[in-house]
Amino acid sequence: MVDEATSELPGLVFWGEASLMQPQPAVSADDIAADDWPDRLDTLARCMDAYGGIGIAAPQVGWAARVFCLGISGVNDRYPDAEAFPLQFWVNPVIESSSGSCWAWEGCLSVPGLRGWVSRPAEIEVSGLDQNGEPVTARLEGFAARVFQHEMDHLDGILMPMRISDPRFLLSDALMAKRDSWQPHWPSPGAFTTQPGRTSAER
Ligand code: ZN
Repeated sequence: MVDEATSELPGLVFWGEASLMQPQPAVSADDIAADDWPDRLDTLARCMDAYGGIGIAAPQVGWAARVFCLGISGVNDRYPDAEAFPLQFWVNPVIESSSGSCWAWEGCLSVPGLRGWVSRPAEIEVSGLDQNGEPVTARLEGFAARVFQHEMDHLDGILMPMRISDPRFLLSDALMAKRDSWQPHWPSPGAFTTQPGRTSAER
């Protein structure tokens, strides 16, 4: 993924760095009114594209703030089965309520080489500010809800491996790349049959 487009972008912050493993500060009205605000958001979205993500949180690129974006415009190499959803920025987001639960394979740009089979609520109602600082609410389900919750965790210093309920649910990318060779129903029936980008009711 590294090409000319990434050379002028901030680098990724990886699993274990102190700045990533702690709660991030709220964005203020002054932050949003500042001249550099549009550029900050643009840089965040460009990093997501350049590094091949479907969501990215500000602390992953060295910006200490409760901001993330998510979106899939076409087919993403890392989640080829995910349905597209529009690019959206969230500032000071809050998960107001959640219901149900589902499982999905998650990766993280800050945790290279690993995939995790993670359970989270299936539907969420959220609020926050948009890129212009205007209050917004949304109800999310499916994989978009999954991505939102993963990015929300980043704002609290929580990374995907910390959501793993069983160490056997953390797999190498190398193993994910040869799923045809997996032992049937390993590491669990749902994990065995669910493609990255989909959710499963079955563990
Ligand atoms: Zn992540």
